[in-house]
Amino acid sequence: MMREYSLTVIFIIILICAAAMLTLWVFMPEKGGDTDLSDESSSLPVINSSENNSESSMVSDDTTWDESSVDDTESSEDSDETSGKEINWNYTVDISMYLKYIEPENPESFSALVNKNTVPLSADYVPEQLVLSANARPGREDQCYMNATAAKALEAFLKEAAYYGYDDITVTNAYRSYNTQYYLFYDYYFKLEASKNPGLTKSQIIALVSAYSFPPGQSEHQTGLACDMHNVAVGNQDSFNHSEEAEWLADNAYRFGFILRYPEGKEDITGAIYESWHFRFVGRKLAAYLYVNNITLDEYYEKGYDIYSENQ
Ligand SMILES: [Zn+2]
Repeated sequence: MMREYSLTVIFIIILICAAAMLTLWVFMPEKGGDTDLSDESSSLPVINSSENNSESSMVSDDTTWDESSVDDTESSEDSDETSGKEINWNYTVDISMYLKYIEPENPESFSALVNKNTVPLSADYVPEQLVLSANARPGREDQCYMNATAAKALEAFLKEAAYYGYDDITVTNAYRSYNTQYYLFYDYYFKLEASKNPGLTKSQIIALVSAYSFPPGQSEHQTGLACDMHNVAVGNQDSFNHSEEAEWLADNAYRFGFILRYPEGKEDITGAIYESWHFRFVGRKLAAYLYVNNITLDEYYEKGYDIYSENQ
């Protein structure tokens, strides 16, 4: 009798425990359930920098962008750099037919870093799907071929520019082959810097040329994702710096997936002089991330950011 009673008590205790565990399981918050920040309804860019929030993160976790600015992002030691960068998702041109190019489905295909510290692209690397860019400057069409996705995004960008009155911006250079870059670089090397600076060593002359023309295999132009555009004479691009058109292009590039690749004040990081005319396509999500955080593509990789890893 006693034994039967004990067994009943143990059975009841087991039942209570099972019920308690079931309750806990049902009401326990789902692990990682709030990490998917993508907003498919609007397909607007989203920032998720939770991987990097230790000390150098420049935006708070779980920051979803909308038409507001980044005022509500958590401040950090780098927050000064983000001030004044307002996001504008209002377009005057109808971008519905361009959106799939501006914000491509495979954005990582467009985010490669190419600079004078990266492993050079091979001499025979030619990007696929090169097409003539919009607004190619008459007479320079053969130098204005671009990756097809980047070219469509650029078309929308330049339509928007025209709407604001900047309708004389033309592309003067886009894809450049390894060989073209080779001759360009060594032209600068021998005809310009070496003759001007006879006392310098080879590596010193290379450093001088590299400030404005990267060595073959290390120019973004070989990727087909970069273009030079302005409304001044070729060779006189410096006069485009700080113009109203240049400022507009720099401030609106991200909306079309482009970045001003060599901004003023970042020369030590990019290794290039300020080039108000050189734009690089990376896709809208990354472009907006770089713009609002005021970082270059080089810094993005140096700091180990990866905006795509969280939203797979
Ligand atoms: Zn360029």
